[in-house]
Amino acid sequence: MTTPISDLLRLPAGPVDLSALDPRATHGFPGKDKSDQPKLMAELAPVLDDRQERLFAAGRADPESAPRVLMILQGMDTSGKGGVIRHAVGLMDPQGVRITGFKAPTEEERSHDFLWRIERALPSPGQVGIFDRSQYEDVLVVRVEQLVDEAEWRSRYDRINEFEARLAEQGTLIIKCFLNVSYAKQGERLMERLDNPDKYWKYNPGDLVARSRWADYQAAYADALANCNTEVAPWYVIPADRKWYRNWAAAQLLAEQLERLNLGWPPADFDVAEQKRLLAATM
Ligand code: AMP
Ligand code: MG
Repeated sequence: MTTPISDLLRLPAGPVDLSALDPRATHGFPGKDKSDQPKLMAELAPVLDDRQERLFAAGRADPESAPRVLMILQGMDTSGKGGVIRHAVGLMDPQGVRITGFKAPTEEERSHDFLWRIERALPSPGQVGIFDRSQYEDVLVVRVEQLVDEAEWRSRYDRINEFEARLAEQGTLIIKCFLNVSYAKQGERLMERLDNPDKYWKYNPGDLVARSRWADYQAAYADALANCNTEVAPWYVIPADRKWYRNWAAAQLLAEQLERLNLGWPPADFDVAEQKRLLAATM
């Protein structure tokens, strides 16, 4: 038995020292190197697909109280939130997936509490919700850019914990992922975007502002991870300097977490034998 990726990536409780977490690590990767990744992804695809379909089926059978899954993706620019969505989340049936990206809040969003827009984007029973950024921006960029005063952002850790505890209580399996990219690798990836006209659209001059505050973001991430790392809504740290590992690890984590739901297939709510007989009579 190999150790579950969920255990290998799980952030231990207590204070967080991001500098001790290696962005190039390949924890739990069962292959020898990058060359084995495509085969491993191909093996994982039907497993993930099957488990998600069970969840989707549960939602059809019980639209009120089937489980829900919420995967939260956080990380600095170029850490690969989009890549995980394309390559790992993309292995699942899009019918059962609800993806939401959170940008700087609109005027309407700003007129509400910070959790308002989050609440509206939650997955329904049977769905896998994916957040590309999340409520955590309200203790990250908001803190670094001093968009609200300190007392306000500090109070949000408890608010977030209470919010997530309520979601878990109501049947949402929460998977929070910090995609851990290094400063050096971010520099390379931003330069690639500037070297390649096909990637200009991904580049935003504002990314350099965030990059220039790297240490402040690391501190903000360390506190967010440490203060909001609960049993019901744990953080997983995915090393993100190697895209092939990052994508495999995210897919494997999703597959393992879906397995925890332990879902069978909903039983027929009709008489199968009778339906067969009726159908046969039409053929
Ligand atoms: P991207 O994910 O690259 O499309 O960028 C989205 C941008 O929205 C990032 O610069 C985030 O920092 C910013 N953003 C997301 N949520 C918030 C928020 N609550 N307050 C301020 N900026 C935000
Ligand atoms: Mg960006």
